[in-house]
Amino acid sequence: MSKFIEIQDLIFAYTDESGMAKCNAIDNVSFTVEKGSFLAVIGKNGSGKSTLAKNINALLLPTSGTVLVGGFSTKDEDHTWDIRQRAGMVFQNPDNQIVSAIVEDDVAFGPENLGIEPEVIRERVDRALENVNMGAYKKKAPHLLSGGQKQRIAIAGAVAMRPECIIFDEPTAMLDPSGRREVLDIIEELHKDGITIILITHFMEEAARAERIIVMDDGKIEMDGSPKDIFEDTEKIRALSLDVPPATELAGRLRAKGIDMGEIVVDEDDLIDRLTGSGK
Ligand code: ADP
Repeated sequence: MSKFIEIQDLIFAYTDESGMAKCNAIDNVSFTVEKGSFLAVIGKNGSGKSTLAKNINALLLPTSGTVLVGGFSTKDEDHTWDIRQRAGMVFQNPDNQIVSAIVEDDVAFGPENLGIEPEVIRERVDRALENVNMGAYKKKAPHLLSGGQKQRIAIAGAVAMRPECIIFDEPTAMLDPSGRREVLDIIEELHKDGITIILITHFMEEAARAERIIVMDDGKIEMDGSPKDIFEDTEKIRALSLDVPPATELAGRLRAKGIDMGEIVVDEDDLIDRLTGSGK
C-alpha cells in the first residue's frame, strides 16, 4: 500500500487577536495514513482532533512541520484545491453543510465549483446519491429530511467530488441512534469502495470498526494501533478520560464472573461469536 497522508513533526498553534501564538493545539505529531485504509481518531474534548483534521484538509496550515496529502504539501497554496478535492471533509452539523434548497443541487455544488461539464455532474450526483442510499430523495428539500438523511446528503456532496479520502469530524454526534447506524454503514461502504477514511469520533464502538485507531491527548499521539491493541489497555484508555466499547466492557464483566471469553472483544459480533463458541 502507498502512503496517502504523510505528517512530519506537525506543530499547530492558534493565535490570539494580537497574533500571539497560544499553546500548541497540535504538539509535534508525525504519522502516515495508507491509501485505502480506515483510521479512527479518538481523544477527549480539546485533545486536538479537529485541529488535526483541518490541517490535513489545508483549512489550517502548520505552524511548523509538514503535511503532505497525495504528495502535495498543504503549505503550497497552488495545490490547496488539489488537496481539498482529494481529501474531502464532512462535519458534525449537517445543517451547516447544506447550501441548496433541493437535494440534487446540494450534491452538485462541489463539482460545479470544479467547473465540470453538466452531463458529468448529473452522472456523479446520481452515483453519489446511490452510494448513500438517497437516490429516491433527489428532488426533495433537504430541510424536510431527518438528521441522518441530511448527513448522508452531506456525505454525497463529498463523494461527488470523487475524493481519494474523506475526513469525518464527529459525523454522528448530532444524530439519533438509527441515523448514527446509517451513517456508519455508509462510511464502511465507502471504505470498501477504496476511499481512505479518517473518522473522528467520541463513540468507542464506532472507532472499533476502523482498522487502526490513533488516540490523542493534549495535542500529542498517545496511542496508535489496532482496535484490539488500543482497547486491551483499559487502564490507559481510562487514564486518557476515554472508555472501552460497550461490547469490550460486557466481555470484561463476563470474564470477571469466570466465563472464558478468549482474547479481547471489541464489537458485538465478536462478543456473540465468543458466547456461541463460533469465533474461537
Ligand atoms: P478536539 O477536536 O479534540 O475537541 P480541538 O482541535 O477542537 O480539539 O482543540 C484543540 C485545542 O485547541 C483546545 O485547547 C481548544 O481550546 C483549542 N482551539 C480549538 N479551536 C480554536 C480556535 N479557533 N481558536 C483558539 N483555540 C482553539
